[in-house]
Amino acid sequence: SLIVFGSINMDLVVQTPRLPSPGETLQGDHFFTASGGKGANQAVAAARLGALTHLVGRVGEDSFGQELLAHLNETGVQTEGVKVDSQTSSGVAMIAVDQNSENTIIIIPGANGRVEGLDVDRLKNLFPHASALLLQLEVPLPTIIDAAKAAKKAGVKVILDPAPAPESLPDELYSLIDIITPNETEAKQLTGFDLSAENNWIQAANFFLNRGVQTVVLKLGAFGVFCLNKAGHFRVEAFPVKAVDTVAAGDAFNGAMAAAFERGLSLREAVIWGTAAGALATTKSGAQPSLPDRETFEAFLNS
Ligand code: ADP
Repeated sequence: SLIVFGSINMDLVVQTPRLPSPGETLQGDHFFTASGGKGANQAVAAARLGALTHLVGRVGEDSFGQELLAHLNETGVQTEGVKVDSQTSSGVAMIAVDQNSENTIIIIPGANGRVEGLDVDRLKNLFPHASALLLQLEVPLPTIIDAAKAAKKAGVKVILDPAPAPESLPDELYSLIDIITPNETEAKQLTGFDLSAENNWIQAANFFLNRGVQTVVLKLGAFGVFCLNKAGHFRVEAFPVKAVDTVAAGDAFNGAMAAAFERGLSLREAVIWGTAAGALATTKSGAQPSLPDRETFEAFLNS
């Protein structure tokens, strides 16, 4: 099985002709809610492709929390590891999008901000049958480090998506990571190298290798993926698609890559699965609604 340890959010999305100025009240066009949070997105991405996937994290004791859990269960994500925390709200992302697709986002971590040692204990119970642990950076960093340590000790592969982009990460964490999957923004922030220049890819990847990461998977948007480890490096081109909205492409990638590992596929095959799921996710708008199901995914992969 796979385990995702991470964030669960309700996205509150308003569409508006333009973004308001400070102090201004204006009338928007449309409102909807959608399940999100990078942890939940990656769990849904893997579960939709048929992997037995456990999510460990927290929601608040509120209606959003109930709705988030219901959605996860409907998708087939195993939620016994999700705690309902009565001390705070569910995590929410308040997103405003204008006519030009410019956005502003406020994230309230809520229950995600209270993920701690007790949650790592629930995680440990799941390790005996797990092939990989997926981490992102939307729960507190000390807890992420504890989770990675516990996984390493149990012999479970640790996959870190360093998103949202942090200023830096401690070497202690790097040394626990089997696979790190930064996008261009995260790689720039962490390594200083600009991935729009192809001759920086190896140097950016080596930054992570030199700090103890085993394998680096650079997510390059429409340029696909560059992968490097001690054994060598390879490139996987992006699948040509008509992208309408790249939200959650990275989460689709990580979920699908892990689902491939769960099936016993190689690193190269897993990266191809990730690339296919990432491409499909860009063809539909939204986060979780854009994550492909198994049928669509297999048809696309074999086309
Ligand atoms: P993130 O969503 O984290 O910013 P990327 O934009 O790099 O990450 O997207 C993740 C993966 O999704 C890419 O490595 C690529 O395989 C796929 N992808 C993203 N954008 C496109 C696109 N325009 N066309 C085809 N594939 C894409």
